[in-house]
Amino acid sequence: MTFTPSYKNIPEEEFARRLAHAGEIIKKCTSCPRNCLADRTNGELGTCQSRDLPIVSSYTLHFGEEPVLSGTYGAGNIFFGNCNLRCDYCQNFVISQNPVEEKLNEVSVERLAEIMLELQNKNCHNIGLVSPTHFAVPILKSIKIAIEKGLNLPIIYNTNGYDSVEMLKLYKDVIDIYLPDFKYGNNDYGRRYSKVPDYFDSVKLAIKEMYEQVGSKLVYENGVVVRGLIIRHLVLPNGLAESEEVFKFIAELDPKIHISLMAQYYPTNRAEKNILLNRAVRHSEFERVADLLDKYGLENGWIQEMESHDFYRPNFDEDREDPFGNKKLLEPAGTRSK
Ligand code: SF4
Repeated sequence: MTFTPSYKNIPEEEFARRLAHAGEIIKKCTSCPRNCLADRTNGELGTCQSRDLPIVSSYTLHFGEEPVLSGTYGAGNIFFGNCNLRCDYCQNFVISQNPVEEKLNEVSVERLAEIMLELQNKNCHNIGLVSPTHFAVPILKSIKIAIEKGLNLPIIYNTNGYDSVEMLKLYKDVIDIYLPDFKYGNNDYGRRYSKVPDYFDSVKLAIKEMYEQVGSKLVYENGVVVRGLIIRHLVLPNGLAESEEVFKFIAELDPKIHISLMAQYYPTNRAEKNILLNRAVRHSEFERVADLLDKYGLENGWIQEMESHDFYRPNFDEDREDPFGNKKLLEPAGTRSK
């Protein structure tokens, strides 16, 4: 790879300053906008039920991201346990909402650094941090250790979007690829379905910060993205994602931003008991949302095939080493370029 990850250009003193700042954040936790103020270095737990050591629920080569991220050899994904949101329909609820069992998967920051290097040795295109927000402080420490030991891949920050701007600023140029969700276009649905009071307000600030760091242009090497911003938007049944407001905001920020419009919703977790969430998205609903991209002049990105929900169901219960069945399915259902 000829691309040099941006973290290689962060001076030592600057990295040290950021680590010191991060160390303060986790003592009175403001790692995410919940601002629990828990001293996680001292056993106190906030809403995410996580101490100051990262929980690695699974790590694997992953071929089911957008093709521009999975490439030929896969993304080197690390799935973190627990979460700062509580989505009724979370597809990863086995690892995201199961804190007692997931505590057994706590690892040291040194071990997490080793995992990054193990994945790199498997030839993946990047390191994908999946649901990193509540562990942003220990992950930053691990990245520093991994860099010292030879990490040389761009890092993807694959987040639910409920991130603090203060924390994101510490990741400037540590992260080359931001991959945030933009789940809802109003606070009310975030309150109802993800149990957080201010999702829409917070995600707008977080995405602005990500955009300021990497802009809207995607940088490619050999057909795989090495730097940039891709916003994911999952279409929910009954218009519960308030997609029009999401697109309106993005178009005002920069209509050149890349959007990955996702069709993989299926009712799982508590959604099975919710009358508004307990069904797949209809073709007509999905097409209506896809048309809104045109209405707001959002031309860059990808639209997932409607059949995708059959291919993207993780099974963390049965196989932590291969939760997406890569062994069986090396060619996942693709996304089609817009
Ligand atoms: S990361 Fe966890 S403890 Fe910290 S503010 Fe968010 S939910 Fe609270």
